Amino acid sequence: MIKQFVPQEICLRCQGCCRFKEQNSVWSPCLLDEEIQDLVNTDIPKVYLTLDKRIEPVPNGAKEGETGFVCPFLNLGDNKCKIYARRPFECQLYPFLINLRGKKIILTADLNCRYVQEKLNTQEFKEYAQYLSQFLNSPAQIKLLKENPQILQAYEEVSEIVELK
Ligand code: SF4
Repeated sequence: MIKQFVPQEICLRCQGCCRFKEQNSVWSPCLLDEEIQDLVNTDIPKVYLTLDKRIEPVPNGAKEGETGFVCPFLNLGDNKCKIYARRPFECQLYPFLINLRGKKIILTADLNCRYVQEKLNTQEFKEYAQYLSQFLNSPAQIKLLKENPQILQAYEEVSEIVELK
């Protein structure tokens, strides 16, 4: 598990994550191949995946008149992930993202996350970014990224932090 940047109590109060404007949103988590196997082989409730290996969001029908889409693993009642202990690598990484810029792989942070907006220029952010770039540059993680090129995406509205190996 990746050490988390945003404290859990802040995450649970914010209703930003795990919700999407469109069903084919690039922000919906993309799964590693081993996570797809996990979905197939275990008792995790089955969900649809898109062709690019993303969890397909479902319409947000929590309240009458509500629009948009949500991850099928989001419990709208308490805003918690139903598979938190086994949530995908990309969800553990968030609000940090691995971005593909041409041939460069860059660690970035989502500027739509309120906690990132608040902490962007702090020592706390700098230290966490350092921890994460060291973790992602480890041989095991480099292998994982090479074997799962689907999770290298071109996200917009992000702050670039450091180029990864
Ligand atoms: S798997 Fe869990 S953490 Fe990831 S988007 Fe879905 S509800 Fe959110």
